Amino acid sequence: MTYVQISTLNDFVFCPYSIYLHGIYDHMDESLYHAAPQVRGSISHEATDNKSSSTSKDCLLSLPVFSDRLGIIGKIDCFRVTEGHLIERKYLLKKIFRGQLYQIWAQYFCLEEMGYKVSKISFYEISTKKNITVDLPGSAEYLELKSVIEKYNQYSPDDEIETNPNKCIHCIYCPMCDKTDSDNVY
Ligand code: SF4
Repeated sequence: MTYVQISTLNDFVFCPYSIYLHGIYDHMDESLYHAAPQVRGSISHEATDNKSSSTSKDCLLSLPVFSDRLGIIGKIDCFRVTEGHLIERKYLLKKIFRGQLYQIWAQYFCLEEMGYKVSKISFYEISTKKNITVDLPGSAEYLELKSVIEKYNQYSPDDEIETNPNKCIHCIYCPMCDKTDSDNVY
């Protein structure tokens, strides 16, 4: 069984073809194509990957998680065990996209399947130091997430996609993408 990486769900929702391009350019020097927002995003996760964003023993940082039921695998930024509080760090969150919700829901369902009790989920916006709490996912959200994962597993780069120039100009793979003639804004 191939597990879907939780961290790629948001990109998949943004554009499935970007997952394919990510696979191709994965081994390239990221500085050649990573734009400022992506660099800030990866730095915001470095703090938890280096376990430097909290010193509390109650806070599990960069915990690997998985769900056999959903076929997903990934890492969570921070889980405060006593409080049951799952936190995903983002540098900037002007708005919470559906794909970002899928990521935190996926982490939630992984933790539950692994035997943790999760009572609260939130995003922590590093640039403003704000916690933004979101509703816990229920059975409807579980089914929605499951359906996205099924589409992910069925996706082929040869599938037709409807390109959206407004998305392409904000896509880091735009200069290498054969599905569009747009130029990105970075
Ligand atoms: S440039 Fe457009 S079509 Fe190509 S991967 Fe990015 S969003 Fe998708």
